[in-house]
Amino acid sequence: MYDFYREPVKKSSAAERGKIVLWKIAKVINTHFPTLNENFEQLVDPRVRKSYTLAELLTGALFVFIFKDGSRNLYNSDRRDELFRQNFFKVFKVRLPQADTFDALLRVLPPNEIEHIKVKLISSLFEQKLFREFRFLGKYYHVAVDATGISSYEQRHCPHCLTKTSKHGTTTYFHYVLEAKLVTSSGLSISLASEFLENTDRKEYEKQDCEQKAFVRLASKIKKFFPRLPICLLADGLYPNNTVFDICQQNNWLFIITLKDGSLKSFNAEANLLKNTAIKQTHQRADSATLTTLDYAYLNDLQYGNRKYSWIECCESTWHKETKTTTNQRFVYITNVTQKSDIVVSTIFSGRLRWKIENEGFNELKNNGYELQHKYSRVSYPAMQNYYHILQIAHAINQLVEKTNAIKTLLKEYSKQTKENLWRNLLAYMAMIDFKNEVDALYD
Ligand SMILES: [Zn+2]
Repeated sequence: MYDFYREPVKKSSAAERGKIVLWKIAKVINTHFPTLNENFEQLVDPRVRKSYTLAELLTGALFVFIFKDGSRNLYNSDRRDELFRQNFFKVFKVRLPQADTFDALLRVLPPNEIEHIKVKLISSLFEQKLFREFRFLGKYYHVAVDATGISSYEQRHCPHCLTKTSKHGTTTYFHYVLEAKLVTSSGLSISLASEFLENTDRKEYEKQDCEQKAFVRLASKIKKFFPRLPICLLADGLYPNNTVFDICQQNNWLFIITLKDGSLKSFNAEANLLKNTAIKQTHQRADSATLTTLDYAYLNDLQYGNRKYSWIECCESTWHKETKTTTNQRFVYITNVTQKSDIVVSTIFSGRLRWKIENEGFNELKNNGYELQHKYSRVSYPAMQNYYHILQIAHAINQLVEKTNAIKTLLKEYSKQTKENLWRNLLAYMAMIDFKNEVDALYD
């Protein structure tokens, strides 16, 4: 029987949700990125006419992504309302410029300077000890490396475009970037360094060749930007080779790299030969719907080139109670972490974190309002790179916002509640509510 006397569960209104998201964005910027404006202002200003400060222009570009507008057009239509602009100024203390105004700046600013600001901001997150609890073996930060396409065109877009010609003779022009991201088991995926793939000798694009050359440049960037950071490198099946192993050795980095059956033939052959002698252990876990069995195995001291590495394997078999079916997955890695029975499970766990760069990292940036592949700048290569770096800063800010308890609570309030809905509430809140005393309370 329906209980008429039951207290109705109070749920948030759209305006309350919008307000919470806005307050959390402001709080994350103030707490974790307190030097943001100062960093923007310290850039060398290449402009002659200055109607906005550098901080205002770059904050504008940043909020295209923080608002998850997905395009400069939608950003412009948000800021068109005076109330929206006034509210923004009250909270963030800068004026929001038109997109064309910051676009002009992003075409002339050197991209490495924007990347440098990203590095400064992210470095300070390490100093704030935000990621310490997620380290491998209590010491090493997981850094995943992977490449992704960011735009493609039917006509040449700039002199640095990569090219590919189909068998029908159609040439496409595109850009790829190789990313190094900090990944955590809590789902964070934060850009540490980015390297754009360029075909300097105008050869056709070849993924393997291009990505491996870019990795050498990326690795030296990581070392330069984060010289003392203890790193455990995570990478996919394109990466087990001596160049990568040498770089890790020189930099004192650990690595856990996907090992495909066909790669490193002599190493794989030796592992197969010795597999019967591998040290094994089995773990099981169950929840209401599944029963999972994990079979771990490892071998140490397998020779490859002039060094020895470890081979680790995890066979995962999941029994689904409802469908009465089993799914199987197998994960194999090569690592320079000498294995023992008490670390093989966490080594496999770390190796499997690599997919987060694809999932939390790239997929989210391609969809979910960020529209990584949207052509933010159709004509300028520097602007395209600058938007890319700024997007990475915005994504870091939004991820920290989304991990706050307040936002997690809102996401659980309704069964189909999404981050995108909450961000729509944010934009509506800023467009429709006249902020009066709210802002003072925020900064108390
Ligand atoms: Zn181009």
